[in-house]
Amino acid sequence: MKVTSIIRTLSNETNLQILSILRSGTFNPRELARILQKDESDISRRLRLLERLGIVEGRWIRAGNKNIKVYSLKVEEVRISFEPGEVVIQTSRNGRYEVPIPESKIPKVENFFGREDEIRLLSSPEKRVIVIYGIAGIGKTALAARVFGDAFWYQVNEADSFDYFIWQIGLFLNSAGYSTLLEYLRGGGREERDILELVLDGIESTGMKLVVDDLHKCTDEKILRLLAFIAGRMEHGLLVILSREKPRLGIVDATYIRLKGLDLKSAYSLIKSRGVKIDLTDFVDIYQLTMGHPLALNLFAEAYIEKNEIRPEKFFDFLFWEVYQALNRDERLMLQLLGLFDEPVEYGAIKHVYPKKNAFVVLYSLLNKGLVEKRGELYFLHDLLRNIVKETPEVDEREYCSRYIDYLIEKRNIKDFLRALRYAVRLKDRDKFRGLIELRLRRFKRIIQDFPDAYMKVLLQLENDPYARKELGHIYFQRGFFEKALRLWLEVEDRLEGIHRADVMSSLADVYMELENFEEAEKYLRELEKIADESEDLEIKLWYHVELTKFKYYMDDPEGALESAFKELEIIRRMEPYPELESLVLLHIGDIYLGMEKPEESLKYYHHALEIARAYSLPFMEHLAHGELSTAHFTVGDYKQAVEHAGKAVEYYLRVRNYRRAVDALAYRCLSYIGLNLPDRGEKDAEEMIKIAQSTDYPLGWAGYIFLGVAKSLKGEDGVEYLRRGKEKLKKHPWLYDAVLKELARVYKAAEAGDLFAE
Ligand code: ADP
Repeated sequence: MKVTSIIRTLSNETNLQILSILRSGTFNPRELARILQKDESDISRRLRLLERLGIVEGRWIRAGNKNIKVYSLKVEEVRISFEPGEVVIQTSRNGRYEVPIPESKIPKVENFFGREDEIRLLSSPEKRVIVIYGIAGIGKTALAARVFGDAFWYQVNEADSFDYFIWQIGLFLNSAGYSTLLEYLRGGGREERDILELVLDGIESTGMKLVVDDLHKCTDEKILRLLAFIAGRMEHGLLVILSREKPRLGIVDATYIRLKGLDLKSAYSLIKSRGVKIDLTDFVDIYQLTMGHPLALNLFAEAYIEKNEIRPEKFFDFLFWEVYQALNRDERLMLQLLGLFDEPVEYGAIKHVYPKKNAFVVLYSLLNKGLVEKRGELYFLHDLLRNIVKETPEVDEREYCSRYIDYLIEKRNIKDFLRALRYAVRLKDRDKFRGLIELRLRRFKRIIQDFPDAYMKVLLQLENDPYARKELGHIYFQRGFFEKALRLWLEVEDRLEGIHRADVMSSLADVYMELENFEEAEKYLRELEKIADESEDLEIKLWYHVELTKFKYYMDDPEGALESAFKELEIIRRMEPYPELESLVLLHIGDIYLGMEKPEESLKYYHHALEIARAYSLPFMEHLAHGELSTAHFTVGDYKQAVEHAGKAVEYYLRVRNYRRAVDALAYRCLSYIGLNLPDRGEKDAEEMIKIAQSTDYPLGWAGYIFLGVAKSLKGEDGVEYLRRGKEKLKKHPWLYDAVLKELARVYKAAEAGDLFAE
């Protein structure tokens, strides 16, 4: 019993993805759901199943006043051996746990004919970049699937975006043993340059094979740039591009294959395999009409009735309508429905949208007729057929797409949410659109950080809608374009209702604070206060206090800020778990206490934040907490602890290429080493800071020279030249310079006495 359950469980792609992520640590279901873009309750259910089977281990931990369940791998290996009379499954704690590459997205061709030359050419191992192009339905996908059955398959969709593409690649690389890209993305990294390099690095170290299908549909410049980038540099991976037109990516060393129809012999084998009884001599005429086009041959096989005359003009359409006329009503309805979808869809969606009970039978009959195609668990019409069906619609698009939207919303994940939004835009259904934006505010907050490109694309289609414009403002704000965000919000502030009005008030208060216009900020804060007072909506009350805390903090009113921050905490704990914000608020509370010169209090809250971040597997927040803890420990003179926490932060931030934060942590570790009288170590950190400053010009990095000078002189060497250089570099930042000297004075008396620079 257990044997078959384990095998069944392990053959599921999502389960394998979960296991491959757990390989890198302990996770809470919520964060796993975010990484995999799935509904949290679905992930929890899978984890419980894996736990019952003894593959993962769940553990309750206490974070703050809550118990949280976290999971980790219990075994690193599952060995299946076939012994006389039984199948034995062994799990062990040692040895490698290798997760097979999920392959369910790869199209399957049951009966494949011909293409021997192409297959030989494609199989040659030294090829790095291959481009297969040719008209629709000519067999590009089928051929590539035949040869590259173990590749990562990416099907381009018009609605695709760079962020979504990258996230998929990150997940794939993670399951192949390369986790840096995924970690970078989870840590909020968004620099195109970093991403290009990490993708290349991941491909090189895993030997990844990547197939990009239907590249001609790609409208995202950044995806094209990425492909050109890796194509030009890759040495160990493989990139296969399928496209209708020869792509202009500027790739020099690629192998180009222009695909034509099947040869006569293979074409004949194909239609015979479909049960058509026709002489080869009679078939020659047909062959000339189809030019060996496999999809046309499939249609021909379906439409073939002996003695039926086939007209050569518009041959393809003609064949299709011949087949179509012969379908029953249910089959036509199903084809029409599939014609409405822009992307391959799963059976569950079809069942939800199709109004009768026989969905399964009808779908399979169409599949057998070669009219519907299946890829993994997804069904779709070939683009060629879809276009014909769409030209003569016979169903109410509005009704069926609305049903599809409802289905997508129920899936409770970002990807399907974005899809739902696209259909709402397509139907110009403003009510649905508004409802979805509200859902974004409440449930899918992370879209702004994780998928800004994808979200922006949908919003731009409704450019004049005030709700869409308000959301665009959030994306600009997140990217640091405050003026642009401000303009959008001012423009729509009087045109929004309900929670959206509160959202724009809070956003305006926020952006004015960023722009240091506190008068205006206060005005909007008061507006927001009114709305929050009259509303029972916790979300709105929370927004008000978040802005109020920030405002009080800027106004140099730490007591006021503290009071409001505790109020935030109280509200958060009454809502659905929101650990990112909870740990952030705890860190803010710690900061406020530190500013009030109560480092002991601040340590308490920083620790608390760390606990929550760990419990919910939020590495970015976790290392933010380590950074703060290091500062606070340094302040109270506990340099050992300061070194320890800073070390964790440094290591993480360097890995996810967040150099600013890495330098912040390096600075405190370096100072602590000086305090501990370990100048050798201090020297190393100082050099690292300088290195980062040289490539990023981040000002604090230049303080590395000053620290280096101090470390040298502690070792009895001459550090004067370094001190001079550091002073010179920081001249433009007097405020920073003073702060550096002040911190240095805690560990180095000469700095305090002001005679650091006295020769
Ligand atoms: P493209 O990717 O060029 O648009 P596809 O690979 O999707 O074309 O092929 C269109 C249809 O023809 C599919 O149903 C596919 O299964 C079938 N087909 C393509 N090539 C072959 C082949 N060599 N043998 C049998 N069927 C094929």
